[in-house]
Amino acid sequence: MKSIQFNFRRQCQQDPEEAGSDSVSDLVDIDFAEPPATQDEDSASSSLNTGVAPASPTSAGGKQYKYNAQWEKAFPWLHLEGNVMFCKYCKAEPQLAGKLSSFVVGNPHLKKDTVKKHNASKKHIECRDIHIIKSTNEYPVTVQSALRRQNNFPASHFTSPLKMTTPQYDLSHTLPPHTLTRLAREWLAEDTPNFDPAGLCVGSHEVEAKLLCKTPCSVLAGRPFFTAVFTELSCTVEWAHIEGAQLGPDAVAQTAVVRGPARCVLLGERPALNCLARASGIATRCSQLQSIAREAGWHGHVAGTRKTTPGFRLVEKYAMLVGGVSMHRQDLSGMVMLKDNHIWASGSITQAVRNARSVCGFSSKIEVECGSREEGSEAATAGADIVMLDNFKPQELHAAAQLLKEEFPSVLIEASGGVTPDSLPQYLSPHVDIISLGCITQGCPVVDFSLKVQKPVAFPIIFQSQ
Ligand SMILES: [Zn+2]
Repeated sequence: MKSIQFNFRRQCQQDPEEAGSDSVSDLVDIDFAEPPATQDEDSASSSLNTGVAPASPTSAGGKQYKYNAQWEKAFPWLHLEGNVMFCKYCKAEPQLAGKLSSFVVGNPHLKKDTVKKHNASKKHIECRDIHIIKSTNEYPVTVQSALRRQNNFPASHFTSPLKMTTPQYDLSHTLPPHTLTRLAREWLAEDTPNFDPAGLCVGSHEVEAKLLCKTPCSVLAGRPFFTAVFTELSCTVEWAHIEGAQLGPDAVAQTAVVRGPARCVLLGERPALNCLARASGIATRCSQLQSIAREAGWHGHVAGTRKTTPGFRLVEKYAMLVGGVSMHRQDLSGMVMLKDNHIWASGSITQAVRNARSVCGFSSKIEVECGSREEGSEAATAGADIVMLDNFKPQELHAAAQLLKEEFPSVLIEASGGVTPDSLPQYLSPHVDIISLGCITQGCPVVDFSLKVQKPVAFPIIFQSQ
């Protein structure tokens, strides 16, 4: 019994890379018989644990084991095929679960404890969450993973598969309230710098306006900004969908209701819609890119860039988070990226990296844009944390990334330059950690939203001459 549990732990709890030559064939092979139809879960478990021999099983080490179909009620992932049981979720994600995981290739162990331990294992939970995303299109889960990837995981975790096991995050908590207020006031002031003549026509009676989305299958993003605009105007917003929700295939989807004084609703309409349309467009594109990467089995980071609209970066970066991709660096202050112009101006890659390190110390990563594998080697040798292979053709990228990873396993490799949603699959490589795309923010289609006041505004104000 001990050897069985030991083997199982090695199979289930270690990373496949660390499991060495351990494989299912090392395990004690146990056959089983179908359980009696009347046997319930507990009695099956107790008969296994006490070693009481069932009707006609095969023995192993003096113990008797058998599969109990009742377990499938508690563990919907459990599946029996041939003479082995396996996990449907892990089997569908061999790259994530690891080929050496016994529940990917089939596990001959029939103890309920074995099933329970697998159910609680980290890799299984990750595979289960991917199954949920694929079967329900539940974007909030990808949103969680996006935020976790932003949390500066150490390099060893950087290329690890999606993390989706933490409690649900509310991404609006990343936005300081005073920033939302400031932006809302700026947008409103831009749109109405002084008088609002049309406000005179509609007055201040309470109205209700429906927010409609007219681009099917869009991902909703930008709720906090939309709400902040109307909060400034003493209006309220009641949302029908959570942030990151996919709005479905309908031609028109009601997304929210805005209530407040008529003139205030109309003052906020355009700034709020502008923001929501752009944020949702970016989140939709990010979600599509992330799906392409995940369906190909690639678990690196799809990332945005600094190619954002002046004055609008916070919203666009936030939309990347909602869409499930990495924001990349926020600005020049956040992380050092030495580009060709920096290299030329400072003389060499090595000198540029040394100069940068002398001021940013340990607290900031240094990335170097490289045009060849040789430049990448020089950058990594000089102490760069990330090597960006810029404007490489896909085949050149794969070869250079592999060589650099072999030489510098802890250095992150980023691919950038000219990657589009159509060409992204060609750039996916197990040796590339990050692929950044300017098209996430440049030339990204917006989502079509409109705001419709429900009751006709027909209360003209009559001036009386005195
Ligand atoms: Zn599993």
